[in-house]
This record gives sequence, C-alpha cells and structure tokens, in this order.
Amino acid sequence: MFDPLQLTGRSRDHVVSIDPPRAVVHRDTAAALRAMHAAARADGFELRVASGFRDFDRQAAIWNAKWRGERVLLDPVGVPLDAAALSPHQRVDAILDWSALPGASRHHWGSEVDLFDAAALPEGAVPDLVPAEFTAGGPFAPLFAWLVEHAATFGFFRPYATDRGGVRPEPWHWSHAPVAAQALAALDATLLADALRAAPIDGLEHVLPRLSALHARYVLAVDAPPAAVVVA
Ligand SMILES: [Zn+2]
Repeated sequence: MFDPLQLTGRSRDHVVSIDPPRAVVHRDTAAALRAMHAAARADGFELRVASGFRDFDRQAAIWNAKWRGERVLLDPVGVPLDAAALSPHQRVDAILDWSALPGASRHHWGSEVDLFDAAALPEGAVPDLVPAEFTAGGPFAPLFAWLVEHAATFGFFRPYATDRGGVRPEPWHWSHAPVAAQALAALDATLLADALRAAPIDGLEHVLPRLSALHARYVLAVDAPPAAVVVA
C-alpha cells in the first residue's frame, strides 16, 4: 500500500485534496473523513482540519530551524530553552518533545488529521491546538466528546491518547486506522535512516546512532486502535 517515499513524506502521490472539510489526506482516508464531517455537521459542529498531510521538507524545515535556534525550543511544560546551552543529545530530545523527526511524522501518511470545531471560534480565528482547548470549559470540549463517541464508527482513533514517554497526548490528533496501521507496520528504522541520510538535516550525526531507540519511542510507542474502531 505504501512505498518508502510515501511513508516518509517524500512523495505525495498517495494523497488527494478534499473540501469539505478542506484537507489533503490519503486517498483511502478521504471518504471516511468526509462522512465524519457530514455527521458532525448534522450535530452542530463545523469539523475543520488544522493539519492533514505534511511533507518531509516541511518537517525538515521545522527541525533545522529548531536545531539552529531560529525557532524557539520548549521544555516539556512549554518553557523556552536556550538551545546553545544544551548538549546535542539534549537538543535532539527537546526538539522531539514537540516536533516529529523528519520522515517519522504520522502526518506524512495522509491518514492523520488535527481536528477542531470552527463553529466554536470567532470567524477567521485559528486554534492554538493546546490541551486546554479540548478539556472541560475549552471551546472544543463538546467536539472532543462527540469524536470520542463517534469517530470509531468512521475508523478514526487517537494514537496519542496516553503519555507513553514519546509524543505527548494530543487531543486534537486523530488517525484513520485502516490506513495508518499499514504505514506503522511498514515504517522501520532502516527505512527512516535512508530518508534522513538523503536530506540536509542539521545534527544528523547526533540522531543516526540513536535512531532505533528514537524510532521505538516516537513511532512505535503509540496507542493502538480500540476494538470498537471500524477498520474495514
Ligand atoms: Zn497531528
């Protein structure tokens, strides 16, 4: 289903543009997302995709800017760090607390969407995508509750529901299980190393020796789809 270039975001021939909801997603995710959007609308929500498919070059630009200190590095609770004061090992960890390694973002697959409710925001406002928006009292708490109840019907689940020491819990991030399961099974550390070596990634010499551990922590340590998720 996926070739190595698609898995690592270096090709876009697995994704299509849809509207509504406006998004670029895997061709086999499009119908499920559109159906979920229609069902949410019938219940009073305006389901919008803040981020769908993201390519390798975009992820690499984020990585390089953080490595060079051109973009702020944050500690696990969101306090800015002085990049120059960190060892290379610490700098890798600080970037990965908040951003995926290029080639290792689930958003490369096209099966992943960051979702919010545009009906709960003033016209033209953009969400911050922070947990407080999705918990009790936050503008997206009702949509979150709706998704928890209904997303499984459309094949979507939360891979970042539990803090497993890798990617932090992200209540906005939903994954289309039938497509994502195949990508997850195919993306091994060797394939990831090949993608990284082919690109200008700053600090790569501090990443490659740790790659199998980073792959285990940031790619494999995710929640599996619950049994209720429709995978057919
Ligand atoms: Zn996401």
